[in-house]
Amino acid sequence: MKTYFGRKTCPECRMSYDIAAPECPNCHHRNDEPELDALFGHHVRIGPIRQLVFFGIGLAGLLLLNLIATIIFEVVAISNNPGMSQAELIDYMSTPGINLGVSSISYIALFAIFGLLLWVNWKQVGKSFLGWKPYVAALVGLGVLYGFGVLYSLLLQGIYGAAGRPLPGVNGNERALREMTVMSPALALIVFGVVGPFCEEMTYRVGLFGFLSRLGRIWAYVLTALIFGFIHFGWRTIGTDAFFDELANIPPYIFAGIAFGFLYDRYGFAASFMAHTANNLISLALTASGKQ
Ligand SMILES: [Zn+2]
Repeated sequence: MKTYFGRKTCPECRMSYDIAAPECPNCHHRNDEPELDALFGHHVRIGPIRQLVFFGIGLAGLLLLNLIATIIFEVVAISNNPGMSQAELIDYMSTPGINLGVSSISYIALFAIFGLLLWVNWKQVGKSFLGWKPYVAALVGLGVLYGFGVLYSLLLQGIYGAAGRPLPGVNGNERALREMTVMSPALALIVFGVVGPFCEEMTYRVGLFGFLSRLGRIWAYVLTALIFGFIHFGWRTIGTDAFFDELANIPPYIFAGIAFGFLYDRYGFAASFMAHTANNLISLALTASGKQ
C-alpha cells in the first residue's frame, strides 16, 4: 500500500515540499497527484512534522501545563498558609475549585499555543465551517453517538444484571468533571465544552489522525480511536475494584474516537469539532441543571 511520507519537487519552481500537500507552498502550483483530494481533501493540510508536534503538544504539553499550574496553586496555598501540613495541602489541592483552576489555566494556555501553531492554517480551519454539510454531519454524528450510548447502557444493564452486580459508576474522569461543573457552570461550559474539545480535535484529529492517514486510513481509524479511548482511562485504578468500572467506560470513548475520526476525515474539522463540543455541552448542561 502506498504511504505518503517524504517530499516531492515542484515541476514549476523546483522547490521540494510535503508529498501530501495540496499545492507548492512557494509558487502555489497544484500538487497533481490525483488521489490526494480523496485521501486528505477534508483534512487541515499540515506537514508530517507539524502533525506530530500537534499530537505531542496536545498530549505531553497538556501534562506539563497541568504540572506548572499545579505548582503555581501549591506555592500560592503555602505562602497564604505557611503552617499547612502535607496532608492538608493534598486535601486542598484535590478540591473541585482548585481542579477547575488548574484545568482552566492548562486548557486555555494550550488553546493559545495551538492558535499560534496553526498560524497560516487558520484560514483552512475557518473554511471548514462553510456550507451546510459539516453542520448536518455533526448533527447526524451526535445522534449516532447518543444511539450508541443508549444501546451500550442497555448492554451493560443486561451483563451486570445477569451477574447480579451493581451497575458500574461513572469513571474518575467523569466524576471530577461533574464536581467542577456543579461548582462553576459557566467556566466549566467554556473550558470543557468548547476549549477542551477544540484542543482535543487539534491533538487527535489534525495531529494524530492526519499523521496516521499517511500510512493508510485503517491505521488512522484504529490507532486514533484506541489512543483516544485509553487516554480517558484512569490508570491509577489498576489493582482496585474501580478498575472494572473504568474498563466498562472505555468502549463509548473508543466509539466516539471512531465517530469523530469519520467526521473529520469525510466532512472536515468543523464537523468533528462541532459534534465533540455539542456532545460535551449537552452533558455539562445536564450536570449543571442537576439532571445527571
Ligand atoms: Zn513551486
